[in-house]
Amino acid sequence: MHILRSAKKRLWAGKALGLGALALAVLTSCATAPETGRSQFILISEAQGLQLGADAYRQIKSQKKISRNPKYTQPVVRVGSRVAAVSPRPNYKWEFTVFEDDSPNAFALPGGKVGVHTGLFKVAKNDAQLATVLAHEVAHAIARHGEERMSSQMAVGLGVGVAGAATGINPNVLAQAATLGVVLPFSRTQEAEADAIGLKYMARAGYDPRQSIPLWQNFAKYGGNRPPEFLSTHPSPGSRIQNLQRMMPQALAEYNRSPYKGR
Ligand SMILES: [Zn+2]
Repeated sequence: MHILRSAKKRLWAGKALGLGALALAVLTSCATAPETGRSQFILISEAQGLQLGADAYRQIKSQKKISRNPKYTQPVVRVGSRVAAVSPRPNYKWEFTVFEDDSPNAFALPGGKVGVHTGLFKVAKNDAQLATVLAHEVAHAIARHGEERMSSQMAVGLGVGVAGAATGINPNVLAQAATLGVVLPFSRTQEAEADAIGLKYMARAGYDPRQSIPLWQNFAKYGGNRPPEFLSTHPSPGSRIQNLQRMMPQALAEYNRSPYKGR
């Protein structure tokens, strides 16, 4: 809501946009996040998001070294596919790629393109801990956080793109927003939302949600005084664990109902 209001204000004050185009942009941009029901400002259609995610993923795969070590690739694909299958978008073209990178990190692009660093295995000690991270990433993709982030970039920095988004997208503006979208971190709100949604998805897929707590503790320990990149844009470990504990009874109920539990 805040994004919508500030973006609108800037547009009204700034570029000489036709009122009709603006109204259309705002009208066509209301979305709701799954599970939490939070209102979102998204100017990019689902089809456009799929395309942008696929393009950015291809680019990353051509630039970063891909791991073929089954010690990493097998659990990532096994756990990731199981979580994606219980999400509301099992039909996305989900991809889980492991990159040779020592930092404990992971990322998600629109449309279900997920990347995992080999360094993640320093903190994820079992399938359920790996599921914590993968479900968090799946949640980012399902809640369309990348598209949301790009949309606020387009509205604030590239005002002209808003009209384009509503009427017929300007590919240059979109490409620029996509680049920014991949580079910029998610907001704290999005991170907390991905934790909340991810906890449900991992439980639904039959992974013990209580393992999310040691996983985030491992992350905090690993970082010492200088937290790894993945943590720097995420909620502080203390508040994150408090939030998880608050949601745990519901997640455990979901876990106990899961037909995949114990598999
Ligand atoms: Zn995240």
